[in-house]
Amino acid sequence: MPTPQTQQNDKNMVYELGNLALMSDALESETGQNGLNRALQIISVLQTTLDSDALIEIFSQEISVMIPHQSILYEHQTQGIRIEAGTPAKHSCSYQLSAAGQSLGQLIITRKKKFNLQETMLFEHLLCSLVYPLRNALLYRGALTAALQDPLTGANNRAAMNSAVVREIELSRRHNTPLSLIALDIDLFKQINDEYGHTAGDYILKAVVERISECIRSSDMLFRYGGEEFTILLSNTDKDGAMLLAERIRSAIYTSSYRYGDELIPTSASLGVACFNSEDTAKTLFERADMAMYDAKNSGRNCVKFTATN
Ligand code: GH3
Ligand code: MG
Ligand code: MG
Repeated sequence: MPTPQTQQNDKNMVYELGNLALMSDALESETGQNGLNRALQIISVLQTTLDSDALIEIFSQEISVMIPHQSILYEHQTQGIRIEAGTPAKHSCSYQLSAAGQSLGQLIITRKKKFNLQETMLFEHLLCSLVYPLRNALLYRGALTAALQDPLTGANNRAAMNSAVVREIELSRRHNTPLSLIALDIDLFKQINDEYGHTAGDYILKAVVERISECIRSSDMLFRYGGEEFTILLSNTDKDGAMLLAERIRSAIYTSSYRYGDELIPTSASLGVACFNSEDTAKTLFERADMAMYDAKNSGRNCVKFTATN
């Protein structure tokens, strides 16, 4: 998508508290309608969702008659959120939002024609109605992420894995597409903890997650389902693809240097691969990947094995 070439009305504005009276006055002078009613109507519509994507879309719709625009972009870099709709145009109106000292990201609307001063001021007032619903949506999003994420490594957790495997099995059945699961267990991890300490063990866990993440595609899903045990769920991937990827991950983990303080900690992992068949449940698929992983342990560790049947 092209970036707008010129920026107009670009402001670094910190929105502290929404001011209903100002918003209602601005709406009244702009639309000639009862400003307070319109303001309350916008506020109540924005309170109907906690989904940040839906919220930005509703806001764009609500303001579009008063401030016609071609595109809207909402971005919160620290939370990794980018929501956009429409095609960006030359002129833009951009605001940094915050409430009670907390940054809420940046909102930009664009169009071909310049925004005039009246529109900019109205936009500022309308942003009052967005600030608090947006803060609630961000809090909700954060809570959802925390419930499904392992706090140490940032990988998805076991709860996330349980629902993802069921969902992917369903999709694989419906579309008759391949699905593979890799189980990965770090080798002799207890020894790493004993020899270098628990914080060094934590460092290895995070570093291994980084290595795995560098090897996989965005459609692959990585989960930490136990202490030093991980799974990688590969949609649309058959046995050959899964074995290749598992070997790439094994090699990336083994050939990396893990420096913790003055120590270099040798690290490897054992991996097991299983592929979905029509009789599988989430449980049987996982059990096969786990069996293959134990086969890799029994074969001397630092290798990849496949199990075809339970
Ligand atoms: P194997 O090669 O057979 O898998 O041996 P292992 O030592 O890796 O396996 P074992 O299951 O005996 O040890 C796993 C260790 O992982 C024991 C546990 O204390 C440690 N562990 C589990 N969770 C964490 C964690 O969050 N941080 C750290 N530092 N250690 C952890
Ligand atoms: Mg283990
Ligand atoms: Mg282990």
